Amino acid sequence: MPLAKLPRAAVRSFATSSARLGSLSATAQSRAEKISQDKTQTYIDVCDPATQTVLTKVLETTSSEFEQAVEAAGQAFKTWSRTSVLTRQRFVTDLQHQLRQNNEAIANSIVLEQGKTYADAQGDLLRGLQVVETACNIPTALLGDTSEVSKDMDTYVRRLPLGVCASIAPFNFPAMIPLWTIPVALATGNTLVLKPSERDPGAAMMIAELCQRAGLPAGVLNVVHGTVPTVNAICDHPSIKAVSFVGGDRAGKHIYERGRATGKRVQANLGAKNHAVLMPDANKNHALNSILGAAFGAAGQRCMAISVAVLVGNAQSWLPELVERAQKLKVIKALSKGQTCIGPVISPAAKQPEEEGGMIVLDGRGYDVPGYPDGNWVGPTIIEAITTMRCYREEIFGPVLIVIRADTLDDALAIVNENKYGNGTAIFTQSGATARKYEREVEVGQVGINVPIPVPLPMFSWSGNKASFLGDVPFYGRGGIDFYTQNKTTTALWKAEDAIGNKASVDMPTHH
Ligand code: NAD
Repeated sequence: MPLAKLPRAAVRSFATSSARLGSLSATAQSRAEKISQDKTQTYIDVCDPATQTVLTKVLETTSSEFEQAVEAAGQAFKTWSRTSVLTRQRFVTDLQHQLRQNNEAIANSIVLEQGKTYADAQGDLLRGLQVVETACNIPTALLGDTSEVSKDMDTYVRRLPLGVCASIAPFNFPAMIPLWTIPVALATGNTLVLKPSERDPGAAMMIAELCQRAGLPAGVLNVVHGTVPTVNAICDHPSIKAVSFVGGDRAGKHIYERGRATGKRVQANLGAKNHAVLMPDANKNHALNSILGAAFGAAGQRCMAISVAVLVGNAQSWLPELVERAQKLKVIKALSKGQTCIGPVISPAAKQPEEEGGMIVLDGRGYDVPGYPDGNWVGPTIIEAITTMRCYREEIFGPVLIVIRADTLDDALAIVNENKYGNGTAIFTQSGATARKYEREVEVGQVGINVPIPVPLPMFSWSGNKASFLGDVPFYGRGGIDFYTQNKTTTALWKAEDAIGNKASVDMPTHH
C-alpha cells in the first residue's frame, strides 16, 4: 500500500512513529523530511515523561493542510460509503490482525511517550482492540427493520453513514481512545479526520499506518495534528458532520458548544471523580488491593481511576492499612513485561498539584526514582478530606486518592450523588442487598460491584453521565453504531398485478 496517496496532513507526521514500525515507515520518513523542507513549520515537542528527552516533534497542521485532509475525506466518502458492508468488515478484520502483529511496537510507543508501564500500555491497546473486534460484527449491527405495512407495500430502514466525521483524543489512552472511534466510524461507512493528543501521538500514527496495511483506501482516515486552532477548525468546518471528543471539561464544553453551533452531532466524554464505597463487611484484602490498583495504576491518569474512597462505618479503621499498602507500591520507569508498578505523570505541570485542602496522610511529592532525576514522578498520595474541599470537588488526574468518612450506606450514597460527576463508581461489600441498593440508587453511569474499574466491554456502550458526558449518544457498542449512522426509512409500493408475467410466452408478441 503506497503512502503517496495519503493527504499531506496524514503523511507529514509519520516522523513521529517511523523508527518503530519497520519498512513502510522508512518511505513515510523520507516523505516527511521532504515535506518539512517545503515551508516553515510549527512544532510541538513530545517529551519522555521519565527523562524530558524530546522524542519527536509534532508538526502542527496548517490550515491549508487541514482543508486538504477534509477534502480528501470528503472525496473518499463518495466511494467508501458505497462499498459493501462485507468490504468494510474485511478491513476491520484485517486491522485487528495488524494490531495484534504490531502490539509490542505500539505498547513501546505508549511507554515512551505517555509513561505507562509496559503491561499497562498493552492493556491500553487491548481495550481498543476489543472495539475493533466487536466492529467485525458490522454486517449484523447494520441490519435495519422491515415490515410489510400494507398490501404490496413495504417499509424498510437502512442505516447510512453521516459523511466526514472527526475524532479528538486525550493523552491518557493514546491507543484505546482513537480505537473507540476509528473502527466504528469506518465500518459504518464514514470517513474520519482524527486529531490525536499532541502530547503522545505516536500510537495513533502507528494505528493509521496499520489501517493502510489493512487495505484502507487513501483519504478514508486522515490524521491532523495540533492544539486549539486545529480543534476549532474541526468544530467549524461545514463538511464535518459529527465530532467525537474525549478529554477534560474545559475543552469538552467548548467543543460541544462550538460543534453544536454548526449543527454537528457531538459526543463528549469529560472529566470524572470516581468514588469507591468501602463497606465494613467487604472482603478487606480484595477491596484494599482493588482500590489501590485503581487509584494509582497509570499514575491515576485514567478517567475511570478511583479518585475517592468513601470509608463507611468500621471500614474507617482500615485507613492505616490502606496507607501502608500504598507506600509499598513502586514508582519506576517500567519497560519490561513483568514489572508491576507506577510510571510518571504526563508533564512537569501535572507533577505540581496545587494546595487544595485536606490532610495529607501519604505524601508522594518529591518522589525520587534513581537514574531518572528529571522524571515527572509523584508517589501514591492519600489525602483525608471533606466534601467541601477543592481537592475533593475537582478532578486532580494524578496518583492522588481522597478519603472521605461516612457513617452509613445512605450517607455514602448522598455523598456520591451530590458530586457533579457521574463517570464510574464501585462498591465493595459481601452483601447482595447492600450492593443492589447502592447500584439501584447511585446516580452514576458505570457501576462496579466488587469491581474497581467497571469499563464496559464494547458489546455494551460507554455510559458515563452527569457532568462526565455531554451529548445524547454514547461511544461504541449500540450507541457507537447509532452515533455514526442515520436512518433512511423507505416505503415502497410494488403492486402484484404489475409483476411481469410469471411464465414464458412462446406466442408471437402482439403488444395487446
Ligand atoms: P484535554 O482536554 O487537555 O485534551 C483533550 C484534547 O482536546 C486534546 O486533543 C487537546 O489537544 C484538545 N484540547 C485541549 N485543550 C483544549 C482547548 N482549550 N480547546 C480545544 N481543544 C483543546 O485532556 P487531556 O489532558 O489530554 O486528558 C485528560 C482528561 O481527559 C481528564 O480530564 C480525563 O478525565 C478525561 N478523560 C475522560 C474520559 C472519559 O471517557 N470520560 C476518558 C479519558 C480521559
